[in-house]
Amino acid sequence: MSGCAPKGACARALVLSQIGRVILKFFLPVVVVVFMESGYSVTPWEARGKIDYDKLIEEFGVEKLGPELVERIGRLAGGLHWLLRRGFFFAHRDLGLVLDDYEAGRGFFLYTGRAPSNSPMHIAHIVPFVATRWLQEKFNVNVYIEIPDEEKFLAKKVESLDEVEPYVRQDILNIAALGFDPDRTFIFRDTEYISRMYRAAVRVARLINFSTAKAVFGFDGETSIGLIFYPALQIVPTLFENKRPLIPCGIDQDPYFRLQRDIAPRLGRYKTAEMLSKLVWGLTGPETKMSASQPETAILLNDPPDVVKKKIMNAYTGGRATIEEQRRLGGVPEVCTVFHWYSVLFEEDDKKLEERYWACKTGKLMCGECKLELVQRINRFLEQHRANVKRAEEKLHLYMYDGKLAQEMWNWEFR
Ligand code: SF4
Repeated sequence: MSGCAPKGACARALVLSQIGRVILKFFLPVVVVVFMESGYSVTPWEARGKIDYDKLIEEFGVEKLGPELVERIGRLAGGLHWLLRRGFFFAHRDLGLVLDDYEAGRGFFLYTGRAPSNSPMHIAHIVPFVATRWLQEKFNVNVYIEIPDEEKFLAKKVESLDEVEPYVRQDILNIAALGFDPDRTFIFRDTEYISRMYRAAVRVARLINFSTAKAVFGFDGETSIGLIFYPALQIVPTLFENKRPLIPCGIDQDPYFRLQRDIAPRLGRYKTAEMLSKLVWGLTGPETKMSASQPETAILLNDPPDVVKKKIMNAYTGGRATIEEQRRLGGVPEVCTVFHWYSVLFEEDDKKLEERYWACKTGKLMCGECKLELVQRINRFLEQHRANVKRAEEKLHLYMYDGKLAQEMWNWEFR
């Protein structure tokens, strides 16, 4: 167990290196990023195998989010979010330029989104929004949140637009409930806001030829022509302001933004900057991801307390076969989904996370107790979140139509 000196530094290194994975599944579900040669694959649908994030940095050609840049964010923001402190956001594109722009007074803006499906959001879905909200608060910038309510229909994941309709409002409320500034946040759904976006979308679409789109997204003869046009609509919000857009998202979304980076200069706009995160583990193990269609892998935002308990008590852990063995050998938090969830969302205090790590490693903490505490924290979080959703209902019109930014955006034209 040890061989690490000092013990605290070693624990921190281990804790920080194994923390976090997130997936922001708001863009095309067909981005193809597969590294089977390396024994793992990363696509928007699944993460298989043990992901080598250093290798991903190399393969994607992105930059590592190193201590210097993290420190600089902390200095400018007056502190660091734990998702940054713990290396959950681990790579980037042009983040240094975003901070240069901020320091020079040119500013920047944030862009993110969520494609509603025919099932509720789960906990992993909100992680990038948590980071986005934090960035908005610290840097006092505008946030644009696209709700592509046509995407699942065009991708033939649902049979009708009506099928996703009940989830559109719910998803918007779940996002708004995280506390975005109603005067600096614009939430819009594609089928409603299309009239303002269309002129910009056709200018984007003209610059992307089919072979490029096919290579990036894996389109084939069965792909609907709607889906082929759809990337243009995803790029339009990066043109909303003549400032650098910053997108906090999962590493699997990076190929999509390479297209934007190719064409942005020709439209007289900035290339998108990205802050890229790891993927959140599904409850079934470190090599799985959360999926609403596989309920045992995820906690849905509408799961009642007894369902949360059942799922967490059945989660994959790094515990030993018996209590006796656990006391003698200690657990293995590095592969434990329960520990992972503490680190990503349910333990803000680094010192306490480290204490948990060592209590597990030294056999002082048993899995039953550890899981029950997580159940309580998740249920407290969900209860609070539902109360926030209720409050967000009253402000929904501000985010979508009447807030300062929303009003401006309903008159927006791309020039
Ligand atoms: Fe995981 Fe907690 Fe068990 Fe350790 S004690 S293996 S952290 S559930």
